[in-house]
Amino acid sequence: MRPDRLVLGCNGPQPLVSILVLVFRILRTSGPVCHEELIPIFSGSVKSPLGQSSGLFAFPDRSLIVKLLVSREVQPENSIVRVRDVAFGDGGFVVMAGPCSVESEEQLMQCAAAVSDSGGQLLRGGAFKPRTSPYEFQGLGEAGLKLLALARDRYGLGIVTEVVTEADVDLVAAYADLMQVGARNMQNFALLKALGRCGKPVLLKRGPSATLKEWLLAAEYVLAHGNPDLILCERGIRSFDPHTRNVCDIAAVPAMKEMTHLPVILDPSHATGRRSLIAPLARAAVAVGADGLLVECHPNPDAALSDGPQSLDLAQFRNLMLDLPCRALRA
Ligand code: PEP
Ligand code: MN
Repeated sequence: MRPDRLVLGCNGPQPLVSILVLVFRILRTSGPVCHEELIPIFSGSVKSPLGQSSGLFAFPDRSLIVKLLVSREVQPENSIVRVRDVAFGDGGFVVMAGPCSVESEEQLMQCAAAVSDSGGQLLRGGAFKPRTSPYEFQGLGEAGLKLLALARDRYGLGIVTEVVTEADVDLVAAYADLMQVGARNMQNFALLKALGRCGKPVLLKRGPSATLKEWLLAAEYVLAHGNPDLILCERGIRSFDPHTRNVCDIAAVPAMKEMTHLPVILDPSHATGRRSLIAPLARAAVAVGADGLLVECHPNPDAALSDGPQSLDLAQFRNLMLDLPCRALRA
């Protein structure tokens, strides 16, 4: 049997199966569907890390996808994703914070000190930056990764940083504790497949105009390619009102948690583009059951090389941490 065209059932006389197929055809008005037409969602030699090989089938029009690895049907209990000694999805609330971009040793160490002192668990910072304009700061590249590793050594914080292209996966994985996939790359399928094999946990941001189903299927790529350690991050979606940079889809957090066992966090910085809205949305994230936050902060946001208007200064970040009604921030 060709691995890319596995067929279920219907070989030889199977009266019960035939009756079920008939009933299904009658109930389903949008065209004929038979057991033989069930096809695998992916083809080739990918092996499910959870051993759910029988569940990986979709109908040909892809309208009804059953038993994805990300689905609560396949795994009813929450997945717990560990990033060094930090657990996502165990009922706690994890705060990851730091600058949008790593700019200098001094800037990053100041952020790391503030994150560590205030009870944040992971340090964020972009070394490879996906920027709308090619003339904007593109990040320090590997030099930025080295600074992140230095901050980890000094402050004991795991680091989360973005990988922009498949070609950089090994390089970024050599430094990062959590591999961030940015919103613009949510459907970069070559990157997602490579991250399935990277051996590090993945933080998958929602695309600016992705439906929840598209976002789940992007996550499925990473799991189907061998990596079960994935955290989803809502970061706002594109809409008509420019008042906020994006529209924060807060309902997406509990909606995703209904559908998937994977941890879901909120990024209120990119979701709003406004530092004054970060604290209220951070509280909303706690209220709707998010597993954590990704927040931008900077020692001098007005001088930031990227995303200053949505970055808290370090005093504001400390206040945010004091004010969070946290189920966690457990010491
Ligand atoms: C970021 O986290 O700095 C970033 C670029 O986020 P997003 O991909 O959500 O725009
Ligand atoms: Mn940013």
